[in-house]
Amino acid sequence: MNRQTFKSLFPIGEKNTAFADYFIGQSYLNMLTTAGVSIGNVTFEPGCRNNWHIHHKGGQILLVTGGQGWYQAWGQPARRLRPGDVVEIPPEVKHWHGAAKDSWFAHLAVEIPAEGASNQWLEPVADDDYNALQ
Ligand code: MN
Repeated sequence: MNRQTFKSLFPIGEKNTAFADYFIGQSYLNMLTTAGVSIGNVTFEPGCRNNWHIHHKGGQILLVTGGQGWYQAWGQPARRLRPGDVVEIPPEVKHWHGAAKDSWFAHLAVEIPAEGASNQWLEPVADDDYNALQ
């Protein structure tokens, strides 16, 4: 399956060059709205995932729209994600999210508004840890 045949609920958008330094593999980003709350459609090619990161103050909600992927909070087992899943990420929790190694993956990323909200990008997810996920 390639970008053309992956069935995306929302338009896939352009290559996510703005955040490419914080991802392994190719992702795509389409900002759907910034009207009061920021919601982006993020699409990951197979094997693509973002680095460990922290949403300060506001937190984030993921709404899975396509494919198969993972969410993992620091010190916790990874959670397999499928369309229709909802992930509530509290502020100050170190975590990552991304595709399974054999599947495209798409989620909406809802940034919970908060005074002084910011993202802190950390180290990549280790290949050994990612490749061990079943
Ligand atoms: Mn996040």
